[in-house]
Amino acid sequence: MLDQAAIDVLRNQPVAEQGHFVNGAFAASREGATLEVLSPIDGKPLTRIASGTAADVGVAVEGARKAFEDGRWSKTAPAHRKKVLLKLADLIEAKALELAVLGVRDNGTEINMAFKAEALSAAGTFRYYAEALDKIYGEIAPTADNVLGLVHRAPVGVVGAIVPWNFPLMIGAWKIAPALAMGNSIVLKPAESASLSLLRIAELASEAGVPDGVFNVVTGPGAVVGEALALSMDVDILVFTGSGATGRRLLEYSARSNLKRCYLELGGKSPNIVFNDTADLAKAAKVSAAGIFRNSGQVCVAGSRLLVQEDIHDDFVAAICREAEALKVGDPLDLSSQIGAVHSLTQLEADLKFVETAEAEGAERRTGGERILTETGGYYMAPTVMSGVKPGDTIARKEVFGPVLAVTAFKDEEEAIRIANGTEYGLAAGIWTSDLGRAHRMISGVRSGVIHVNTYGGSDMTVPLGGMKQSGNGHDKSLHALDKYVDLKTAWIQL
Ligand code: ADP
Repeated sequence: MLDQAAIDVLRNQPVAEQGHFVNGAFAASREGATLEVLSPIDGKPLTRIASGTAADVGVAVEGARKAFEDGRWSKTAPAHRKKVLLKLADLIEAKALELAVLGVRDNGTEINMAFKAEALSAAGTFRYYAEALDKIYGEIAPTADNVLGLVHRAPVGVVGAIVPWNFPLMIGAWKIAPALAMGNSIVLKPAESASLSLLRIAELASEAGVPDGVFNVVTGPGAVVGEALALSMDVDILVFTGSGATGRRLLEYSARSNLKRCYLELGGKSPNIVFNDTADLAKAAKVSAAGIFRNSGQVCVAGSRLLVQEDIHDDFVAAICREAEALKVGDPLDLSSQIGAVHSLTQLEADLKFVETAEAEGAERRTGGERILTETGGYYMAPTVMSGVKPGDTIARKEVFGPVLAVTAFKDEEEAIRIANGTEYGLAAGIWTSDLGRAHRMISGVRSGVIHVNTYGGSDMTVPLGGMKQSGNGHDKSLHALDKYVDLKTAWIQL
């Protein structure tokens, strides 16, 4: 159980200005520039971080390359890397509350969620890949007797990782842990508005025994630091979670530089489909509300399109509105809050604009749709339900990344699949039904990387997460994620 008094002590601690973490130490930006970090809790300044330049990225990449080539990490025994990463997992777990509170002050996620889904989940991710790394074998190919075909799994080199602000620790760990496990070096660029907890992870990694230069963090604007990383001739792989627009740019940067491999996780407009034969509609309404409104809808797999079979539509929409109105939005560091702050004023304004556009296109605002708790100075929005949304409407096609649910009625399975697949995205989906055959038909018909059946949003490290269509390529989590961070190298030996 989390303790409110302990949280309140941590929330009031000043946060020192932060430098980059490069070659095992904190350093200011070469040009000395800094960025102000505002807390979404009250809109007030929290601290300043280094605003990196291409030169800072250059130093970090050079350090990462040198570390990779001299083998201080890449050539260590798997058993050693395992020990260090397990220690890192322990350190993260020991500091979980501190990390979670720091992250919440930076990005606004409600503390119960941040503690589990950010800090503890990051510890679990490091532990998972630490335990996995010495169970990965090479192969002996089934060749003729007079040759030996060996397939090695070799670390690739320098990994550039660019991560977003919604779950910096969780998503950061999904990239950092498997990359380090396989022996690579990393230069990480966190979102400029959620860098603090990841800088702390870099420091803890060093304390755990990750050698200098192997894990570097350069902070600052995406268009400067992220671009320099993606254009670098010495970064071998780019792993990214963020918007489709940035993902497209990264592919261009790769093409213009060294054809580095790019693995992109680009969000979604995920359909959550409720059939009239759902056994427990009350539970479906509760879970579906959580599936869109938790973390103020700032979740890549959020069930942001609710498709409801027409004969239960009106009752179900009424139920989901009741659930939305019952959720307590408030100070994310108050343990009784169920939903914290929207991440930034820019995001909040974009969310409100989507509601306005939806109304202009004919949808009906059933609940929410406005900024609340303005007196706090923070950025809060009431969970919002829009009904009568047509499949072609803006709000049915574009990712809002806010607490806004778009509801559309459907007639039958065929129409549900057609509407579900009618966007450029394919990340997640939900199916609610008591009919096993229907569940399987929907799993096969809906194009998305993950499909929840009679729930929404459950997951753990054992299963991969990745998108279809324009939601991206490659997978985070599970043993499959390791494939991104190795090169297959064939040795053909004549005997
Ligand atoms: P979001 O809308 O979730 O902020 P972005 O794609 O803008 O999504 O941000 C995700 C990450 O990508 C952040 O770390 C951001 O700084 C970075 N980023 C933004 N623009 C660029 C760019 N032009 N090149 C590289 N990285 C970028």
